[in-house]
Amino acid sequence: MLLIVNAGSSSLKLKVFDGAEEVAKASVERIAAGGHRVALEQGLAEAGVPVTRLHAAAHRVVHGGAGLTATCRITPAVLAGIEACVPLAPLHNPANLVGIQAVAELAPNLPQYACFDTAFHATNPKVATDYALPCEERQRGLRRYGFHGTSYAALVRILSARGALPERLLACHLGNGASLCAIVNGRSVATTMGYSPLDGLTMGTRSGAIDGNAVLRLAELHGVARAGEILNRESGLLALGGSNDLRALHRAGTTEAAFALEHFAYWAVRHAGSMVAAMGGLDAVVFTGGIGENDHWVRGNILRGLRFMGVEVDEPANRQNASELHDTASRVAIWIVPADEERQIALEAQVVIAGEGA
Ligand code: ADP
Repeated sequence: MLLIVNAGSSSLKLKVFDGAEEVAKASVERIAAGGHRVALEQGLAEAGVPVTRLHAAAHRVVHGGAGLTATCRITPAVLAGIEACVPLAPLHNPANLVGIQAVAELAPNLPQYACFDTAFHATNPKVATDYALPCEERQRGLRRYGFHGTSYAALVRILSARGALPERLLACHLGNGASLCAIVNGRSVATTMGYSPLDGLTMGTRSGAIDGNAVLRLAELHGVARAGEILNRESGLLALGGSNDLRALHRAGTTEAAFALEHFAYWAVRHAGSMVAAMGGLDAVVFTGGIGENDHWVRGNILRGLRFMGVEVDEPANRQNASELHDTASRVAIWIVPADEERQIALEAQVVIAGEGA
């Protein structure tokens, strides 16, 4: 059985797969620093899976940088590569490394694999990833990478299996973190997140796209660390509407909450325009993530904003969170596909494992 680990700084999410089948899961929250090994044992006990039943573990790793662009076995060199990406993802990669360490302590001989959120976007052309910065700065790795790659890869897998993968797909991963991806024939050509998961859409607590000079001003006023906290943890829907939960914003009924929702949908439409331009047109839109799968108000507003591209939403289907949302008059297909990131990690790791045995 294969253990999938999604380690955050204070949480650990586990799923256990037997082939493509999910057989158990567990989630441990509020883990203290240094407590991941105990949390892992606790999680496996909760899942009812003894460590001796596992034949491998695969981790979600947020940042693979320019070098780690495919799911792979975690060797000392790969571990060093993940460590080298810590400055690129200071909130995420250290937690992922702690998760890898916890598994190594609990089961020293268990082969471990890493699947990178950035990897799916390795196919973006250089013109899409490079910032117009001096050469020296670009050589430091200051470029766009993009995230949510495992989620987008899962969408491509699921639509392909249905024989429904279109040439030009606008994929919308709308959760607490939110991004869009332009996918041409199953490959990412552009995405809204950049150097870090801060860029692009208005998010739960992240500002989304913001002028670099405004960032400098925040750093000047508050110092770099505090400015980082403001941008990543205190902005977005929380700052505009008083909550980062869409359900609470809909319930609130305040002008602030209404504005936060409007801001979210408006910027999703603006960025969608950029994604569609990168693809030279649009054949289908797919929604995933907590908001994408559940919030008909947000989907409806985004889709109505894309009417000029031939998008026509079937309103009753949308209100029911149906899997197919296009009206018969729509030139563009519209779907909801539930996020399936852990299975994607499992399948990718299994391909690598099978390759090792060959
Ligand atoms: P993450 O990015 O943390 O993985 P999710 O994809 O689970 O997050 O999305 C979480 C967000 O989805 C919540 O903050 C909430 O705004 C939204 N959400 C979840 N369920 C619903 C619902 N039934 N209706 C509207 N929004 C929802």
